[in-house]
Amino acid sequence: MANRDYYEVLGVSRTATQDEIKKSFRAKAAALHPDNKETGNEGEFKELVNAYEVLSDEQKRTMYDRYGAEGVKGTGSRFEGFDAGGFGDLSDIFEYFFGGGTTRGRRRGGPERGADLKFDLELDFLEAVFGVEKKITIKHLEDCLECTGSGAAPGSSPVQCKTCGGMGQVRQTSATLFGHFTQVLPCPACDGEGTKIDRPCEECKGKGQLRKPKSLELKIPAGVDNGSRLRVGGAGDNGKKGAPAGDLYVVIHVRNHAVFQREGHTIHVRQPISYSMAALGGEILIDTVGGKKVLKVPAGTQSGTTLVMKEQGVPHLSSPQRRGDQQVHLVVDTPTRLSDEEKSLLKRLAELRGESLSVPAVAREEGQGKEGQQSLFDVIAGVFKPKNSADES
Ligand SMILES: [Zn+2]
Ligand SMILES: [Zn+2]
Repeated sequence: MANRDYYEVLGVSRTATQDEIKKSFRAKAAALHPDNKETGNEGEFKELVNAYEVLSDEQKRTMYDRYGAEGVKGTGSRFEGFDAGGFGDLSDIFEYFFGGGTTRGRRRGGPERGADLKFDLELDFLEAVFGVEKKITIKHLEDCLECTGSGAAPGSSPVQCKTCGGMGQVRQTSATLFGHFTQVLPCPACDGEGTKIDRPCEECKGKGQLRKPKSLELKIPAGVDNGSRLRVGGAGDNGKKGAPAGDLYVVIHVRNHAVFQREGHTIHVRQPISYSMAALGGEILIDTVGGKKVLKVPAGTQSGTTLVMKEQGVPHLSSPQRRGDQQVHLVVDTPTRLSDEEKSLLKRLAELRGESLSVPAVAREEGQGKEGQQSLFDVIAGVFKPKNSADES
């Protein structure tokens, strides 16, 4: 399939500004995201994200303008590694492209930024559906109070590294067949710090930081699911020497429920109903995530019928006022232990409906006869024929 023109996909002119491209992407992404029941389209959404990735990057855009899709082939997609299990919520994708830009910038800026941390959080089924407040305790790196983060024992201070003269870098010249090469490397004596600690702080062993427990109050939004990731900005390891802290990523794990099964925003429930209820119709009380609700069963319901309870499912993470549905899968329960009175009533019912509970003798003989003829015919003809071929001829 030929690629559509990226400008066409985004619905912008070839001279569009970055603002216009961004604006158009936002609007189209909201419409095409697979979560959107009316206009969602996974294929077109992927195409849109792909086009945006190229046109939002001036370098890639120039390559595309000059050489077309071939020019940006194999430049790699930042988006591909983003969520291996399909697409995240739309808000995740927006955050990915637009949000968190400052943290990403810092990360590129210097190695001093604190590390990101991951915390696995287990939730009950209903907590994930409706959201919950949770207090968690993480262990992250904080400045050592004893040495106020310097790593040097109280009363002393770090001294300039003699090897690099405080530069943190050394030049290394090596001879090769092609001549001398000079490389600039981090100083091996001070690990590129430029300073050395003569008397390390005992509390932190000269590291300047200690891993300490820290309590956090988390507001888990309604609609999170297995694998959802929540970012708590700045809750990761503290940076060294006043550099920014890393982020904390809380990964959600949802426990199974005895009654409900979840599929995205849809809740599935299996509900046995009696034989009489299936035939006559009526009302039953059904468990929903919001408590028991009355469900009308229409007369003449077949086993395997699915009834939909609108908006009794899981709220959408990005817009909690929108909710999925609950699907009730009805199974007719055939009675097994019958009293004599029940047996006679059912037999009477069968009579009234003209239903026969056994095969009459005449029909039985006829059936056997036909089968006998057919197999005999097969032997004579010497060919295999399906059993019902005799009925057709
Ligand atoms: Zn210390
Ligand atoms: Zn050094």
